[in-house]
Amino acid sequence: MHKITIANGDGIGPEIMAATLKVLEASGFEYQADEIQVGKKVYENGFTSGIEPDAWDKIMANKVLLKAPITTPQGGGYKSLNVTIRKTLGLFANVRPVRSMHPFVATKHPKLDIVIVRENEEDLYAGIEHRQTPEVFQCLKLITQPGSEKIVRYAFEYAKATGRKKVTCMTKDNIMKQTDGIFHKTFKEVAKEYPQIETDHMIIDIGSAKLAACPENFDVVVTPNLYGDIVSDIVAEISGSVGLAGSSNIGMNCSMFEAIHGSAPDIAGQNIANPTGLIFGACLMLNHLGEQKIASKIENAVLKTIEDKIATRDIYKDDGETTLVGTQEFADAVISRLGQKPSHLSAREVSEESQKMKIELGAKASVKRDLDGVDVFLYEENRDPNWVASQLKAAAQDQKLQLAMITNRGVKVFPDGNPETFCTDHWRCRFLADGASSTDVVSLLGKINTAGLDIIKTENLYTFDGEPGYSKGQGQ
Ligand code: NAD
Repeated sequence: MHKITIANGDGIGPEIMAATLKVLEASGFEYQADEIQVGKKVYENGFTSGIEPDAWDKIMANKVLLKAPITTPQGGGYKSLNVTIRKTLGLFANVRPVRSMHPFVATKHPKLDIVIVRENEEDLYAGIEHRQTPEVFQCLKLITQPGSEKIVRYAFEYAKATGRKKVTCMTKDNIMKQTDGIFHKTFKEVAKEYPQIETDHMIIDIGSAKLAACPENFDVVVTPNLYGDIVSDIVAEISGSVGLAGSSNIGMNCSMFEAIHGSAPDIAGQNIANPTGLIFGACLMLNHLGEQKIASKIENAVLKTIEDKIATRDIYKDDGETTLVGTQEFADAVISRLGQKPSHLSAREVSEESQKMKIELGAKASVKRDLDGVDVFLYEENRDPNWVASQLKAAAQDQKLQLAMITNRGVKVFPDGNPETFCTDHWRCRFLADGASSTDVVSLLGKINTAGLDIIKTENLYTFDGEPGYSKGQGQ
C-alpha cells in the first residue's frame, strides 16, 4: 500500500483531480491519500506562500505529492507556491516528457517525443537581486558544481531507465564561461560513465531554434534552470498539446507530480476540462513509485481513448467522428479501456530499473585556492574612465594591490578604452598583485573609502589549482 499526499488546487483542479483519482483507483494502484490545502483559500487566509504550515509534515511523511494546479493571486506579497515547494523540499529536477499525438491532436511535428530535464533550484532563480546604483540592477546567476552534477546524473539515469538513446546538454558557455562552463564541463565528465548513451552539446540559442524546427532529432535535453523553463514551454507548445503533458519535480527524498497547465479559471466548474495532463502526471508518479506496469496500463488506456476519438472540448474536432465528452466521462472512457493497447500511439515502457535510480555525487577533490586580487565596484557619476582611474591610482599608490583594469558593464574602458563606449554610473575596478592577501584587500578598501570614492561591493579574485576563477573584461 502506497501513501501519497494530494492537493486539489483551484479552478479546474478539483475536477481533474477527481477524474485522475477515479482512474488510479480503477487501475489496481493500491494507495492511501492524505489531502492538504494549497492555493487561493490558503493565500486568502493569510499564508503568503499558499500552503498551510502543517501540510509540510504530511508531504514529508508520504514523500510523494500529486498536486492539481492552483491560482496564484495577482499583486505583491504573494509567493509562488511552486517555487516554495521546490526550494523547501530540494526538488532539483523538473522533468517534462512531451510527445506528439499525431494525427489525433494537430501538430506540425508528428514524431516529437522529448523529455526536458531542467535544473530546478539554481541559476537566476536563486532570487538574489540588487539595485546597486541609480542606474544599475543586478541578478546573481549561481550555478554550482554539485547542483550541475545532480541534474546531469539524473538526466542520464532517467535516459537509461526509460530506454532513451541520447542526452543533449544546452548552455551558453561561449559567453558565460564560468557558470554555464561548469555545467557543460560536468556534463562531459558524467557522460563518460554512460558510454551506451549518445551525447551532444548545443549553445542554447541555436539549440532552442533546432528544438522548434526539428524536434524529432532530440530525445532527452538537460539544461540549467532558465533555459529549461523556456525550452520546456516551446516543446509543449509545438507538440500541439500543452493541456496533455504531465511533469515531475524530483528531490533526493520527496517528489511532486502535476500537469503542466494552470488552473484555467475560465472553464472551472463546468466539467469540460481535459484531465489528461494530471493523469499523465500521476503516471510519472507511478513510475517513480516503481509501479511501471500500472503506469503503462493507464497511459495506454488514455492513448486508446484519444485514438478512439473521444475528446474533451479542447481537442475536439467537428469531423462527424469525434465524440465530445466532459471531464468525468473522459475518465470513465479511460477506465473502460484499462488493459487495452492503442494501435497507433504507444506508451513508453519504463524499465523496473527506474525505481533503483540512484543519484550519487562523485568524490570531492581538494582544490588549491589562491588570492590574485579584488574587483572593487564603485558608484561614480563622473563618466570619464581616465578620471576614475586617476582617483584610484592616487588612493592606492602605497598599496600592494594595484589598479590593472576598469570596465563599465563588462567592457574595458581603462587602460586604452574606446571613447565610443557608453558608460553608466557603475564601475568595476580590478586590482591585482602577486601573493595578495585579504589584509591587502582590506587595506586597499580603506584607502579608496578615505579618498571619498563610493564602494558598492567587492568580489575577490581567486585562482583554483592555478586556473583563474574570474572572467576577463571584454576587450582585455
Ligand atoms: P492556464 O494553463 O490555466 O490556461 C491557459 C488556457 O488553456 C486557458 O484558455 C484554459 O482554459 C486552457 N486550459 C488549461 N488547462 C486546460 C485543460 N486541462 N483542459 C482544457 N483547457 C485547458 O494558464 P493561465 O490562464 O495563464 O493561468 C491560470 C492560473 O493558473 C494563474 O493563476 C496561474 O498563476 C496558474 N498556474 C498554475 C500552475 C500550477 O499550479 N502548476 C501552472 C501554470 C499556471
